[in-house]
Amino acid sequence: MSDPIVTELRDTLDGRWAELRRRARDELSADWMLAPYGLSIAEHRELTTKSLQRIADEGYGRVGFPTAFGGEFDYAASCVLFEMQAFGDLSLLVKVGVQFGLFGGAVARLGTERHHAAYLKDIMAAKLLGSFAMTEVGHGSNVQALETTATYDDSTHELIIDTPTESAVKTYIGNAAKDARMAVVFAQLQTAEGGHGVHAVLVPVRDEAGNPLPGVTIGDNGVKGGLPGVDNGTFAFQQVRVPKDNLLDAFGDIDDDGKYVSSIDNPDRRFFTMLGTLVRGRVCVGGGSGAAAKKALAIAIRYGSTRRQFSAPGAEQENVILDYLAHQRNLLPRLAKAYALSFAQNAVTERLQELQGEGAEPDQEGQRELESRVAGLKAVTTWHALDTIQACREACGGAGYMAENQLVQMHADVDVFATFEGDNTVLLQLAAKGLLTDYKEMWGDLDAMGMVGKIAGQLGDRLVERTAGRAGLQRLIDTATGRDDDTATDSLPWALSMFEQRAEHVLETLGNRLRKATKDNAFELFNAAQDHVLFAARVHIDRCVLEAALEAHEAMTSGAAKDLLGRVLTLYALSSIEQDKAWFIEHGRINATRSRAVTASVNDLCRELRPHALTLVDALGVPDELITAPIAQ
Ligand SMILES: Cc1cc2nc3c(=O)[nH]c(=O)nc-3n(C[C@H](O)[C@H](O)[C@H](O)COP(=O)(O)OP(=O)(O)OC[C@H]3O[C@@H](n4cnc5c(N)ncnc54)[C@H](O)[C@@H]3O)c2cc1C
Repeated sequence: MSDPIVTELRDTLDGRWAELRRRARDELSADWMLAPYGLSIAEHRELTTKSLQRIADEGYGRVGFPTAFGGEFDYAASCVLFEMQAFGDLSLLVKVGVQFGLFGGAVARLGTERHHAAYLKDIMAAKLLGSFAMTEVGHGSNVQALETTATYDDSTHELIIDTPTESAVKTYIGNAAKDARMAVVFAQLQTAEGGHGVHAVLVPVRDEAGNPLPGVTIGDNGVKGGLPGVDNGTFAFQQVRVPKDNLLDAFGDIDDDGKYVSSIDNPDRRFFTMLGTLVRGRVCVGGGSGAAAKKALAIAIRYGSTRRQFSAPGAEQENVILDYLAHQRNLLPRLAKAYALSFAQNAVTERLQELQGEGAEPDQEGQRELESRVAGLKAVTTWHALDTIQACREACGGAGYMAENQLVQMHADVDVFATFEGDNTVLLQLAAKGLLTDYKEMWGDLDAMGMVGKIAGQLGDRLVERTAGRAGLQRLIDTATGRDDDTATDSLPWALSMFEQRAEHVLETLGNRLRKATKDNAFELFNAAQDHVLFAARVHIDRCVLEAALEAHEAMTSGAAKDLLGRVLTLYALSSIEQDKAWFIEHGRINATRSRAVTASVNDLCRELRPHALTLVDALGVPDELITAPIAQ
């Protein structure tokens, strides 16, 4: 019989999609979700393509697409499935992401009915394999500066796709080197009237037999640091002509008179609206990396519960390594963070469905807030995954370095999650800008930087209101008020109030720094404050994570599982405070006595949670079948 605490914790972590996750746990078989070790690149790519087909055959490719074309249009479910698939081979995961998320998602979101009718069925069935070709040699993060052109020829009603320079070659593109028959190419759209900014165009790249089409040069990025099963490659276009109908025209089109038309006049707004519709990719990458970290924790904690080294004087047996405080300190705070991040991931997934699911009403402010939160959460979660998988590898000693124990390949694969779908540093800046410009519209024509300080003040109020709106959390904060004795660190309310004070103070002071900006010095001023900007985004996300976790915790029925989760979340919160001790002390939020008490509390919690470590990893719900590491059996 399964442990009721495991079941309750798992259900809480699974959230609204418990049923879907249960189904995925049953159905995602090791037979096609894992890859043997030691395959050549060619073999791994071949296997990955086959497994992608299997995923499509099982119907998983349909989940995120419009119902009118045979999809299920459950945006949230497609993110949840992506997380579940991350328990398998990450090359397969990324291939799935490229085909259904990036390529299919761009056709669905940036295209209109004519594109949907022509292509979605084959995309969902993996009969039409495709690429999402945005990045160029010269520009990855700065997408607005892409150089590829799509020039309208009014005489033939065609778009001419061209790679004008070496730095305009599309590179690192998934599915490009071997499988793609078509690509969504991001290019500067030009008509007789002039340039209209970056747009997406469907460009056939290979014929049925797999040969490049005339004018298309395809290259292979070859051996990478990880993801060996994904065929990343390059595209260059020499005056390739496609019908004007291939322009994905949800946000801008060329009419029959050759005139550019768009419902959004401002080119910047149009560009960011266009990219905003693709936010699901970042939700998925965050969720996928979080899942990989859970699998690593399951392996390392199971191993740590059996592996013995050294004995206490007089003891008959050597100690189990997880009984050492240092080992607990390495693994348990990361386990606690994995829990907390899961709840934040559920919250953004739910919000994505509300804002972009079928029949959703447009909500620009909500969409902007989501984009900002997703950008920050993707950065925090992918870095957590990288750090955690490495810590787990070391926690398994030499055995952890053996490929059969799954950790090294996982680390190599997750590495690039910090870069694709947006470089993490650039994303944190985006998240901070989102916070600072939240009230942009309210301030009308005040210039962008001049209004920042005022906004920061407003924002503080709004954040407090938002938290206060959640009755359970407010009650928690109230219980912290007045507790200023120097050792009261073991409580969630105190930790929550620290997270809130940190987020508000950092944002307010950032606003004050940037308030001095003028049109002439804004760029330099922002650049000079980049460390502050990144910190503001990170601590804001930490706060969102803790709030989401506490909401889930508050919703549980009182009992042993709730108590246990409470201690896990306290460990998450106190470890975060411990890491930022210097800031809390510098800013007079805690004194030296309390600072020492935080460390003591983290140690106590590690010791307290040690007996529950296996329960806690079981509750993470990593399918046993996908943990093949001999050290974790
Ligand atoms: C395996 C793999 C698969 C990929 N798949 C695809 C795909 O299918 N389709 C696709 O279009 N792209 C794909 N990419 C490309 C990926 O999205 C880009 O690599 C990513 O956006 C980063 O761009 P870049 O490589 O040009 O790095 P850059 O933007 O040049 O960044 C380099 C460094 O500069 C820093 N930096 C940049 N700007 C700033 C700034 N303003 N302030 C401070 N620091 C800054 C960054 O933090 C980073 O550390 C893939 C990449 C890889 C490696």
